[in-house]
Amino acid sequence: MNIYENKVEVKKDEKIKGYVHSIETFGAVDGPGIRYVAFLQGCRMRCQYCHNPDTWNIGVGDEMTAEEILDDAEKYRAFWGPQGGITLSGGESLVQIDFTLDIFKKAKERNISTCLDTAGNPFTWKEPFFSKFEELMKYTDISLVDIKVMDPVKHKELTGVDNKNIFEMIQYMAENNDDMWIRHVLVPGKTDFDEDLKQLSDYVASLPNNVVKKAEILPYHTLGVRKYHEMEIPYKLEEVEPPTAERVKNAERILNTANYNLYKNWRPKKYKIFCYKDEFKYRIC
Ligand code: SF4
Repeated sequence: MNIYENKVEVKKDEKIKGYVHSIETFGAVDGPGIRYVAFLQGCRMRCQYCHNPDTWNIGVGDEMTAEEILDDAEKYRAFWGPQGGITLSGGESLVQIDFTLDIFKKAKERNISTCLDTAGNPFTWKEPFFSKFEELMKYTDISLVDIKVMDPVKHKELTGVDNKNIFEMIQYMAENNDDMWIRHVLVPGKTDFDEDLKQLSDYVASLPNNVVKKAEILPYHTLGVRKYHEMEIPYKLEEVEPPTAERVKNAERILNTANYNLYKNWRPKKYKIFCYKDEFKYRIC
């Protein structure tokens, strides 16, 4: 199997299995409310500051089914409150889109709120991916979208990949009224230049339909460096220190994070569930 693709053939009636890196049962920062977070294996980006290089490869980790994840998640349901539920993170949850789709579809049957954590790299208009993504959005209540840096040249240098398709994904989601929560990791000397932050701010403000429920600056940290040493992967940011509180505030001011406060009263789109049960397909009603 290609380690970056989840091209496992699934026979009819056979349950889809995915590769899971780890589970956090009480996540308070990965989406609205308290959430059960499953970190999936697989990511094709190579962000220089990634603190989870151990999630990059697929074909490793625990093999699990949607039912196993959801049965386990439901043990913690009492803690979720009106906003919480499950989050699929990574790695990059869209690398295993068949598995992600299976989990979210079945989560909706159980009336569980779903949150997708993605940096968008797998997005393509090509089939079969696009139809799967389109369907996935019908079962996704909100997405955490990581925007690394706007400038395509800087993006390629920082992550190893292009960002054109990432913006195509975000635009598609916004035009389809899919709620999102924007995140930007602030790395001194890489992603904290005022002109780049201004460009990001203008871009986020331009997204239609009030889809941006929250915009957040995540200060770079060095907690993942040890993993690079253990895995014998060169770490390119050895000299970089976390940003000062002042630089974080500056970025929050430029991005106008305080203005994006719709997440406070945010609720999962329950109407999707009723449509699904009645008609076996989702429709905005
Ligand atoms: S997208 Fe996320 S998981 Fe992938 S390399 Fe970047 S930080 Fe790491």
